[in-house]
Amino acid sequence: MSSAAQSVKWIGRTGGCQCGAVRYRLAAEPLSLYACHCRHCQKQSSSAFGMSLWMLLEKVEFTHGQPATWQERGDSGAIKVCAFCDQCGSRIYHGGEDPNAPVSLKPGTLDDTSVLRPIAHIWTRRAQPWLDLAASGIPCYEGEPESDEILLQLWRDSHPGTGGRR
Ligand SMILES: [Zn+2]
Ligand SMILES: [Zn+2]
Repeated sequence: MSSAAQSVKWIGRTGGCQCGAVRYRLAAEPLSLYACHCRHCQKQSSSAFGMSLWMLLEKVEFTHGQPATWQERGDSGAIKVCAFCDQCGSRIYHGGEDPNAPVSLKPGTLDDTSVLRPIAHIWTRRAQPWLDLAASGIPCYEGEPESDEILLQLWRDSHPGTGGRR
C-alpha cells in the first residue's frame, strides 16, 4: 500500500471545476492530504466529508480562468478565503490570511482522483455513523489535531523523498 503512495507523481497533474471554466496544474508535491468530517466540510461539500490537499497557492498554476472568492469566519475566529468557480460553483480551494501558509485544494477537482489516499481522518466525532473509519487503517482524530505539523509529518512519513519539498 505505502509503495503505491510513494510512486504517485503529483507535479503536472491537472484539475478544474465541474464546468471547465477554471483549470489548474500542480507545480509541486502536495504537503498533506486528509479527510475532514467537520460540519463546515459537510456543508461545503454537501456530502459526508471534505478532503484537503495542502498546496502552496503559488504552486497551483491556473491555466484557464481564475476562481472567485468569498470569505467566512471559522470557529476559531480566523478568516477563511473560499475560492470557487463563479460559473458552476465548484469549490477549488480554501485558504487563510497568511499567504505563505498552504491552501486546502479540494482534490475531488483533480482529473484523476484515483491517487487520493488520505493520511488521516479528522473531526471524526462529527463523522457519519455508517462510515467504518477504523477499517481505513489511518490515524483518526476526534477533533482538530494538536498542530498542523502532525498532518505534515504523517504525509512525509508515507511519502519518503517528497516531504518538505516546496
Ligand atoms: Zn466551473
Ligand atoms: Zn472540516
